[in-house]
Amino acid sequence: GDTPGFTGADVKDLCFSYGEEEILHDLTASFPKGEIVAVTGRSGSGKSTLLKLLMRFWKAPEGSMQISGEDVGEIQTSHLRKLESYMIQDTDLFHDSVRENIRLGKLDATQEEIEAAAKKASIHDFILTLPQGYDTPVGELGDTLSGGERQRIGLARAFLHDAPLLLLDEPTSNLDSLNEGVILKALKDGQEGRTVILVSHRRSTLSIADRAYAVESGRIS
Ligand code: ATP
Ligand code: MG
Repeated sequence: GDTPGFTGADVKDLCFSYGEEEILHDLTASFPKGEIVAVTGRSGSGKSTLLKLLMRFWKAPEGSMQISGEDVGEIQTSHLRKLESYMIQDTDLFHDSVRENIRLGKLDATQEEIEAAAKKASIHDFILTLPQGYDTPVGELGDTLSGGERQRIGLARAFLHDAPLLLLDEPTSNLDSLNEGVILKALKDGQEGRTVILVSHRRSTLSIADRAYAVESGRIS
């Protein structure tokens, strides 16, 4: 997973509001290549907002936000989507097979690559227990998929995409310690050449982090 020219991400003096109220205030942080950076903070402090801004899901904030020294606002969308893999806080699954839910847009992914991503995300064995394995329609499963199973499918998606900047929003919040352990190990083992921004409340995820930022009311504290 080494991407030539990739040096990590930096945000400086970010200020952002969805509406009237300012959510991020002069937020500055570095996410260097090769590091797992934990971002912690209370509910509502602005952690998901920070990731969404890096993904350019919202209007540009004030301040600077760069990947490999290039302004996120200037990066071509198709290129940005290659630079970033992300797992949003509540993974949405759509009405298609488990395989297609993991693949999500990565049309050239082989079954082998999909299975490798599912193994990293600790969901492969579960998928094999489903009536039609990877072909099982997610729609039919409906509510029978647990929060943790969804979460791991979301992670498999992010791992499959294999981008140098991995943005994970509470990837293990619904997992037992066994599955969490598999995932944290996969993150640590796959760290080289990459940057992982790991938003989490869990102490266990801090154990694999190279640095940690605590966000308090939209500021790094
Ligand atoms: P949690 O730990 O609960 O996931 P968080 O740190 O991720 O919290 P954010 O989701 O970034 O917090 O939200 C920061 C603030 O922005 C909160 O006050 C929230 O209510 C507000 N907010 C989030 N999304 C929107 C939106 N789409 N429109 C308006 N306000 C929003
Ligand atoms: Mg959040």
